[in-house]
Amino acid sequence: MHTDPNCIFCKIVAGQIPSGKIYEDDELIAFKDIHPAAPVHFLIVPREHMESLADTHARHEMLLGRILLLAPRLAKEQGCGDMPEGGFRVVINNGREGGQEVFHLHVHVMGGPRPWKRG
Ligand code: AMP
Ligand code: ZN
Repeated sequence: MHTDPNCIFCKIVAGQIPSGKIYEDDELIAFKDIHPAAPVHFLIVPREHMESLADTHARHEMLLGRILLLAPRLAKEQGCGDMPEGGFRVVINNGREGGQEVFHLHVHVMGGPRPWKRG
């Protein structure tokens, strides 16, 4: 599996730096965003290092699908309200102009009562 020794999310995946982990399996981990923009804000991250969606391939089809299936489950566990009054936002930033700061693919899941700090 591809990893990058200088990548902060690879270090979290490897357990080299701490995180507020809320989920893990053989392919994915999820942890709380260190600067939450909403009352609930966590990241779903593949263990494999890939920079962004632009760095994914057909072999990642199942992985990408699993991330989107996991989002509502973890959102509910983390306290997001039921639909339609509750809900959650799913965001993937890609590249500098896409607002990406950490170049290891991650999916933001944000929710909880508004107002939020961003978005
Ligand atoms: P993006 O702009 O999509 O690359 O977002 C990167 C996100 O990672 C930001 O919301 C940061 O607050 C978050 N982040 C950066 N370092 C950490 C960390 N060590 N633990 C948890 N979240 C982090
Ligand atoms: Zn990485």
